[in-house]
Amino acid sequence: MNDLDNKVILTVAPTGAWPSKGDTPHIPLQPEEIAEEIYDCWQAGASIAHIHVRDDDDKSSMDFDKFTETVELIRATDCDIVLNLTTSGQLGLKDEDRMKHIIALKPELASYDCGSMNWAHSTVFENSPRFLEKLGMAMQDNNIKPEIEIFDAGMVYNALYYLKKGILKAPLHFQFVLGAPGGMTATVENLMFLKTLIPADSTWGALGIGRGHLPIMYTTLALGGHVRVGMEDNIYYSKGVLAKSNVDFVERTKRIAAEIDKEIATPDEAREILSLSN
Ligand code: ZN
Repeated sequence: MNDLDNKVILTVAPTGAWPSKGDTPHIPLQPEEIAEEIYDCWQAGASIAHIHVRDDDDKSSMDFDKFTETVELIRATDCDIVLNLTTSGQLGLKDEDRMKHIIALKPELASYDCGSMNWAHSTVFENSPRFLEKLGMAMQDNNIKPEIEIFDAGMVYNALYYLKKGILKAPLHFQFVLGAPGGMTATVENLMFLKTLIPADSTWGALGIGRGHLPIMYTTLALGGHVRVGMEDNIYYSKGVLAKSNVDFVERTKRIAAEIDKEIATPDEAREILSLSN
């Protein structure tokens, strides 16, 4: 068996809810584009794909048919990448409309945003206690592991509460999302602090949005965490230069990891590290 200690799980988040073709013509937004991009990222070495979909007008969406089409296109190939579906692709939806795609499609992972926050000084990113209880239980019932997204320190304490209540099960897997408008900023100090709050048997990854992307990635690799790249978080390869493809980010991360004697985990190694049972 491979030694998993120096393996880094690399998630690619190619689409997200916000960037448009006007921001970057290279972002994949419709099912065929997303599935092809994920296939290419998998061939380049990505372990997990974090998936959002858009409606026919390329707007933020939780459209059930778009999720189904995207997942089926990926599953129809030889690609064994771990699928992680968002439960937060569109604001203001009913609880059920954020959950029915994961119950039907049973990805191995799905996002679990562990609290509410003001988003970009304009609206509320709502994850009510009622929703988090329902979502946690639906994930347990369907063998879907929550990726607990943390935008602010209080959300870690929410996760610890749900762990105690049995809504979440150990070992927990955290994703620290730094630099979102309204959440904690993408600083090394914030990441170091958040890491001190989680249970010792947890796994964790982190990402910095926009210009925080590379500093947070380097810090995460140095601290032994897992990383996420992709146009959901950052569309620029370097200052003022758009990435031509999400594959560019995957390949760069592989090179950076190799320089410090780490290797990117295969999808099966990621399954083992995260104790996925699906
Ligand atoms: Zn997302």
